[in-house]
Amino acid sequence: MTTCDFCGKQESDEAKTLTWTTATERGRQRVYCDECSRTHLRAMEGKLDSEWW
Ligand SMILES: [Zn+2]
Repeated sequence: MTTCDFCGKQESDEAKTLTWTTATERGRQRVYCDECSRTHLRAMEGKLDSEWW
């Protein structure tokens, strides 16, 4: 079971989480679902912390 750290969406199918994004912020691993990854791609590329979104 993988949980999106942004919207809280849960996915039990590992194949679907392949499109999810993992990022490390301040030493903690964060996981974002495909939707949040798309929505926040720009911010992530800018290496902004999720608090800024
Ligand atoms: Zn999400």
